[in-house]
This record gives sequence, C-alpha cells and structure tokens, in this order.
Amino acid sequence: MRAYNFCAGPAALPQAVLEQAQAELVDYQGKGLSVMEMSHRSNDYVAIAEQAEQDLRDLMQIPSNYKVLFLQGGASQQFAMIPMNLLRGKTSADYVNTGMWSDKAIKEAKKFCQVNVVASDEANNFKAVPAFESWQRNKDAAYLHYTPNETIHGVQFDFIPEVGDVPLVADYSSIILAEPLDVSKFGLIYAGAQKNIGPAGLVVVIVREDLLGQTLKGTPTMLDYKIHADNGSMYNTPSTYAWYLSGLVFKWLKQQGGLQKMAQINHRKAAKLYAAIDGSGGFYSNPVAIANRSIMNIPFVLANSSLDKTFLKEAEANQLLNLAGHRSVGGMRASIYNAVPEEGVDALVSFMQDFAKRNG
Ligand SMILES: *Cc1c(COP(=O)(O)O)cnc(C)c1O
Repeated sequence: MRAYNFCAGPAALPQAVLEQAQAELVDYQGKGLSVMEMSHRSNDYVAIAEQAEQDLRDLMQIPSNYKVLFLQGGASQQFAMIPMNLLRGKTSADYVNTGMWSDKAIKEAKKFCQVNVVASDEANNFKAVPAFESWQRNKDAAYLHYTPNETIHGVQFDFIPEVGDVPLVADYSSIILAEPLDVSKFGLIYAGAQKNIGPAGLVVVIVREDLLGQTLKGTPTMLDYKIHADNGSMYNTPSTYAWYLSGLVFKWLKQQGGLQKMAQINHRKAAKLYAAIDGSGGFYSNPVAIANRSIMNIPFVLANSSLDKTFLKEAEANQLLNLAGHRSVGGMRASIYNAVPEEGVDALVSFMQDFAKRNG
C-alpha cells in the first residue's frame, strides 16, 4: 500500500503516472528500449518532448508569443539567469520579499544589479503579503520579481501585481498548475519541477519572446534563455526522463479535468486542513494571515512542541509521511500538491483530530 506523502519537494507524484512509467520503463510502447535510453534527437523522443510542451500549453493556455523551456539547474539557477537575461541594459530590478525563497532570489540578483526591495514582510516573520499600495517601486526597474507561493512559510499571494510595462517575473515552483493562471500578465514564470510538476532535475521556464536576446555580456551559453529557446531546450542533452515524466503528469492533469477542476479540489483540500487546525482549540495553529494562507503548503505548530516528535512518529506509523516543517522554521508542514489525493488530506485530518484528543 502506498503511503500519503506530504513532502514539500521532491513531492508526491500521481500513482497512475508512476504505474504508466513502470509499464513503459523497460520497453517504451514497443520501441524496444526505455525512454531513458533514447537519443534526445530521435523522432520518438522529440515526439515525447513536443507532446509534453503542447499539453502544458493547453493546460495553462500559454499564448503563442511565449517560449516554454525545459531546463536544468533547478529553480535556484533561475535566481541568476533572470537578471543575466532580463536586465537588458538596465541596472536595477524590483523584488518583493515574502519569505526564504524571495530572499534567496534577492541575494543572487544582488550579484548582477541594484536590487530594490519594494516591500518586505521579514519584520513580521513572513506571515502576510505586504499590501500592494505600500510597495515602493522603482520606475526604471528592469522587471519585478516575486514569489506567488512561499513554500516554507506557507504564504500565498491573493493578487497578481499590476506593474504596467515592467515585466512581471514569478517563481511559481510550488504553485504552478494548482489553479488557472493568466500567463499573459507575466514576462517570465519559472518553476522547479519537483513540487507540482514531476521529478527533480527539471525547471520549466515560460518566457515572453520579446524579452530574449539581450543577455548580459559574459553570460555563459548555458545560462542564455535565447540559446535554449532557439534549440527547443536541446542545445545540450536535456533531462530527458524527467521531461517525459512531467509530460505524463500533464496528461494526467488533463484527464482530471484541467486546472479549473484541480483548483476546486485544491481549495477543498486546503479548507479541510485549515478547518482542522483552526478548530483544534489551539492545539494546532497556523500563523499566516487568512487572505494569504497557501493552498499548497500548510505549516502548523503544536502548542506543546514537546509533542512534535511523537506526532511525527505516529503520523508515519499511520502512513502519513514527511510532515516535519522546514529546518529553518520547525513545527509541521503538510504540502498538499495536485498529486496528494483528497483522501490523503482526510486521513491527515482524522489523525490530527485523534492525536489532539489523546494528547490535549
Ligand atoms: C523549492 C523551491 C525553490 C528551489 O528549487 P530548486 O529546484 O531546489 O532549486 C525555489 N523557489 C521556490 C518557491 C521553491 O519552492
């Protein structure tokens, strides 16, 4: 029996996808070899790669003037690639600081340009998104970067910033494909695959074409979006198997009814978990402002933290895995991505209620 996996990343994958990958592992559709053993230039593999891109385009309704890139180096490499590619002769960029991932993006960008932190919730320990009206934006910013969902703090934006002509750049790693999204509002969207897309080893970048081709002098070939765009993400050998598996996940999402349907399920799952936390009479709590509570990553603490170890041990014995919070914040965290079934959340809620009853 498979356990329910609440890991923040690498995270749960749909069981149906794993079973299909298993069935095709040794001999892909009668071709006599595994996808892992195929040349990335072969017709069979190119068809797999193109189908994956098309399915992602369909799911997210990505406009045709956007390139979809399947790259390596994780979301973290994007922290450098973004300024290298998007400064385009400018010397400063705007960043919003809503948690640890924003902070890492800011630190990396400082190597390349003047970073203007338009707003930060750090003094408040990252519990809310600073009100848009309070942002101190720079009119000459090359772009504005923000993190729509802070995976560690469980803080989610409840709006898409309206920044006019300034390209909007967003780290969607932990919330891409969770809900429908108007891609046309963005200059660039990126997401490490290991949260809500597929296996680790891949980062998906969706970038507006007109932003390409003005790379910072000295940018390595491999860090130039234009090179990857011009070569169909096959300038060098891509992460072929992760790309294939991500394609299976895109197909699975289509079969589930697409992002509208996933959003309904995701909101229902999150509501159940927050209700369990808020209804525990203080046994469990979540510090995030209601409007900014993440539907994907739900951190919570036990009022009596001496019970943490027992909670985790008993959860594991009940097939509820990876509920420990990030090492930087402690407590618990349940990541309930698309691939975590609603029954998994129901099982977690039952366990939490029972645990509170026995230990309250
Ligand atoms: C996990 C995560 C990252 C880092 O991803 P890597 O692929 O490990 O580099 C960056 N941003 C966010 C929001 C994340 O959740």
